[in-house]
Amino acid sequence: MQTIGVIGAGQMGAGIAQVSAAAGYRVILSDVDQARAEAGKAGIAKRLARNVEKGKIDGQARDALLGRIEPVGDVAAMAPCALVIEAATEREAIKRQIFERVGAVLGKDAVLASNTSSIPITRLAQAAPDPARFIGVHFFNPVPVMGLIEIIRGLATSDETVATIETYAAQLGKQVVRANDAPGFIVNRVLMPMLNEACFALGEGVATIPDIDLACQLGLNHPMGPLTLADFIGLDTCLEITRVLFEGTGDPKFRPAPLLIKYVEAGWYGRKSGRGFYDYSGETPVPTR
Ligand code: NAD
Repeated sequence: MQTIGVIGAGQMGAGIAQVSAAAGYRVILSDVDQARAEAGKAGIAKRLARNVEKGKIDGQARDALLGRIEPVGDVAAMAPCALVIEAATEREAIKRQIFERVGAVLGKDAVLASNTSSIPITRLAQAAPDPARFIGVHFFNPVPVMGLIEIIRGLATSDETVATIETYAAQLGKQVVRANDAPGFIVNRVLMPMLNEACFALGEGVATIPDIDLACQLGLNHPMGPLTLADFIGLDTCLEITRVLFEGTGDPKFRPAPLLIKYVEAGWYGRKSGRGFYDYSGETPVPTR
């Protein structure tokens, strides 16, 4: 059984650990300390318990899956890993520090991948032990549900490294798409301008929050409206990615909507802070404008 490492046990890292263990990998899961790593695994156990109740997985398979995930407080434990996926907080300095530390223990053939949503892979590769064995592997949230992985090659990424990730993705049963190392890759390049435009439309008084959402839901056959989706992703994250698109391309079409900036400045980040375009304090979300 191959061992893979996952660094960062938050919503994405825990999801990546879960689907990897479900595919039969042994997973070493780290976070800033042992307690955070344990909390990540506890979250996985909670989600799996719900799946057992729904009859999606039996108790024995659940126990076997959890038995393959080992939470650790330090990346030193990742020395035996053939593949390490970093899914820590979206801050370049944090990721660089992680690569330096894990790079010191990784084997000479091991592949290091980052789940970054927006930081250029070629630039991040400079902090990796070997840019040829460094790659972007962009999962989607929630990881166990979403069937896609974007693979992003840095300038120096080798064909062998791409092949390693394609094999891994196939093992997980996920579809892959290959993107070049351009701002936003594919999905965020296409999605964020739409969410940003919905913010412009709201700010300019084109329509109300529920009408913008309903129009796109029914008019475009999207599962949820753009303002609901932005709240779900996190308005701070949407703004961060939009800024990366704007700064990375220099194209004014990507400039962030003033209303999006205002909401983030107010600390209204969406679902995770309890208020964004909707207020989430009650039973059902209520539009805030
Ligand atoms: P999160 O805040 O839920 O989790 C981040 C985790 O990283 C936290 O548990 C934090 O304690 C941990 N961490 C911070 N510094 C660390 C360090 N030095 N060593 C180990 N762990 C550390 O964030 P998330 O939503 O899981 O995002 C993680 C990454 O995945 C980011 O790069 C993000 O851009 C990317 N991503 C997020 C989404 C999404 O929809 N949320 C989708 C695709 C990719």
